[in-house]
Amino acid sequence: MTRLYDSRKRILVTGGAGFLGSHLVDRLLERGHEVLCVDNLFTGTKRNIDHLHNHPRFEFMRHDVCFPLFVEVDEIYNLACPASPIHYQHDPVQTTKTSVHGAINMLGLAKRLRCKILQASTSEIYGDPSVHPQGEAYWGNVNPIGPRSCYDEGKRCAETLFFDYRRQHNLSIKVMRIFNTYGPRMHPMDGRVVSNFILQALKNEPITLYGDGSQTRSFCYVDDLIVGMMALMDSDDSITGPINIGNPNEFTIRQLAEKIIEKTGSSSELTIHPLPQDDPKQRQPDISLAGELLAWKPNTQLEAGLDPTIAYFRELVDEGAVAPIETV
Ligand code: NAD
Ligand code: UDP
Repeated sequence: MTRLYDSRKRILVTGGAGFLGSHLVDRLLERGHEVLCVDNLFTGTKRNIDHLHNHPRFEFMRHDVCFPLFVEVDEIYNLACPASPIHYQHDPVQTTKTSVHGAINMLGLAKRLRCKILQASTSEIYGDPSVHPQGEAYWGNVNPIGPRSCYDEGKRCAETLFFDYRRQHNLSIKVMRIFNTYGPRMHPMDGRVVSNFILQALKNEPITLYGDGSQTRSFCYVDDLIVGMMALMDSDDSITGPINIGNPNEFTIRQLAEKIIEKTGSSSELTIHPLPQDDPKQRQPDISLAGELLAWKPNTQLEAGLDPTIAYFRELVDEGAVAPIETV
């Protein structure tokens, strides 16, 4: 569907060459918008946006959001930040800088342009939660000095900045708390559970359960997530969030492993590895606010979403595009 020319916007997506960003870019272009994708390609890849190479309304700029950016746009989606524990712990100082300096730079840009800005925040705001499921009113249980803190506290500070720009400068902000999301274009070496397990299963290698696999996560398929993200951006100015977007169906990590083995017909066996420090025991979003304010709910259950995800990883394995998997 292409919109009328007068409703076309020029939209900045930071982190647009990453997993979620590249899907968002596709959906925005489908709606007829112009998209400026800004990414330093730390975890994103040109492969994710390769199909847009000659697209007349798509532009790519290699840039680090820790540095100011001077462009003219109508809307900003701020997704730039490594998202997987292996990647964000690789250079923790840079991770905090990306969240905090990146937010300041993008908010400064939004302030100059008087345009709407959406922040890709995270369920990690809730840390290892003592409330279950996690609603937006819960303030979280985050270790400020642990190995995950660069990401968790960086994202928390970014939320603070968004709300201070709202209070101080009356900026139009949207803060979205994203829960674990999966799908095609996930980075194969990001060490996350869905990518690790699928690749291990496809190669008939041992599946690496951290701890006994009784910790839980709730997995949202990428297409559902992007619908929620765009609905939040398009919502009334009074809707700032923070708002949870995720799939509330909760699985233990062991259940996920068993489902992936079954779906891939793998002969892989489960192996037990130490649980990483500060690994949250439970995670499940309360998405009632997203239902009430955005009329949003996820439609794709894990059973269905795993199929295209497995197909994507199978293609990578067949192409020989996958290095040995990183595990703790
Ligand atoms: P990703 O690593 O695939 O994408 C992040 C993108 O940001 C990459 O393309 C990377 O190269 C780019 N980037 C990193 N640092 C940058 C910098 N300093 N300047 C410019 N670009 C930079 O991760 P993703 O899963 O697509 O996550 C996107 C956003 O959503 C992140 O902000 C992440 O924190 C958030 N999020 C994701 C999940 C999830 O499950 N995928 C969950 C919660 C929050
Ligand atoms: N996990 C696992 N084996 C792996 C990778 C991850 O058991 O090979 C566990 C991890 O300890 C965590 C859960 O799976 O409890 C989700 O991990 P992921 O890194 O995907 O996301 P996050 O911890 O940020 O939710």
